[in-house]
Amino acid sequence: MKIHFSGAAQEVTGSKHLLEINGKFILLDCGLFQGHRQEAYQKNKTFPFDPKAIDAVVLSHGHLDHCGNLPTLVKKGYHGKIFCTEATADIVPIMLADSAHIQEQDEKFMGKHFQELKVPNEPLYTVKDAEAVTAHLSGRAYRTPFEILPGILVEFYDAGHILGSASVYITFQENGKTRTFLFSGDIGRAQKNILRNPEPPKNVEIVVIESTYGNRKHEPVAELRTELEKIVKNTALRGGKIIIPAFSLQRTQELVYDLHILEKEKRIPKMPIFVDSPLATNVTDLYRKHKECFDEESYQDFLSEGEAVLFFEGLHYTRSVEESKAIKDVVGPAIIISASGMCEGGRIRHHLRNEASDPKNTILIIGYQAEYTLGRRIVERRPVIKIFDELIKLRADVKVLNGYSGHADADELDAFLENIEGIKNVFVVHGESSQSFAFAKRLREKRERKWTIEIPEPGDSLDPDEILFF
Ligand SMILES: [Zn+2]
Repeated sequence: MKIHFSGAAQEVTGSKHLLEINGKFILLDCGLFQGHRQEAYQKNKTFPFDPKAIDAVVLSHGHLDHCGNLPTLVKKGYHGKIFCTEATADIVPIMLADSAHIQEQDEKFMGKHFQELKVPNEPLYTVKDAEAVTAHLSGRAYRTPFEILPGILVEFYDAGHILGSASVYITFQENGKTRTFLFSGDIGRAQKNILRNPEPPKNVEIVVIESTYGNRKHEPVAELRTELEKIVKNTALRGGKIIIPAFSLQRTQELVYDLHILEKEKRIPKMPIFVDSPLATNVTDLYRKHKECFDEESYQDFLSEGEAVLFFEGLHYTRSVEESKAIKDVVGPAIIISASGMCEGGRIRHHLRNEASDPKNTILIIGYQAEYTLGRRIVERRPVIKIFDELIKLRADVKVLNGYSGHADADELDAFLENIEGIKNVFVVHGESSQSFAFAKRLREKRERKWTIEIPEPGDSLDPDEILFF
């Protein structure tokens, strides 16, 4: 077999790994490259392989950096199936439609304002292109092997990252021998609420593993709810609002789940909670449908309390612009959860503009904030921030809770591999170089394991059997 690393090699976005097995081509993920506008557009427009030559596509989960370029793949002639879990098959159309919609809006905006800059202003794909992907999706249950091509079996294992996320386990015959391969996908944190913990197969020869936080340690999951309780209580005592920029998928629902428990146990006062993001509202509906992804505790909560867990009294999911605008008139303590997670777009910017200068309020950051984003400037507690060309004094309290991260930290990634027997080759992907190299170094230091450990470069084509252990 050969693995062609076509994206998310020494970087975090554009996840795309092409497996060549017995003359067949299987594409694992088809993610969007994100980042600098023009560069990303160029990288997303073409593929380093012929989409018509791909025999099957398998997705690990529904984040755009893993599925967001499927419309381009289909537009360029991919005609086969796209295999994923049942929940992912429902998530992908929503995420792709949202991505296409933003691109179409962008086209209008860029067309109006920046024509002279010659920045590409046509969308990578349209809403119609995005819709064309749906017919290719084939949702499958977890832990149920199925054949994607003659003699090539796939089985989805829990990855604990977002609703529907999976590690992809592949078995196939090569030269009369059974070979085993695992693509970790994005690995979540064990013990978090709602989803089951990541659980790899018992025995695998070749592993491709993510390393987003290969050199980081998060705060313990067990302390998160108590930390959230303190922040909400203190802000409410001041009569302030808590503004939380959050990714719409999974992070928002985990927060809502924790807030529900804190309210039920009377650890925080009752106050209105708003989830002000149409995408989050649409995605939360899928949690009603896909309880098969839940861990035992959350499943029992749903059985005993019904949908109150994510749809309780005092919690408002807003869709229309009017509903969103009305939030600013709410007097007294309130919690506002809104996207985008890094404050670069979406309704969160309106809430920040309205609330950031009031010292009674708290801005709670729960996710990674990339350089040059508004979220990053808030984390750095800049005295003045710019929102919609307006200069706003940042007087609200800023709190950071990184433990809500959707990605395992270095110890948790290591533990994931530790649970697998029979490993021969490890390929470290999906991380900035500093994270991937640090994680590989950590793995190499355990010499008794005798694994080959590679950090592929973008464009590398590697045969696991030809890699030597030093
Ligand atoms: Zn992800």
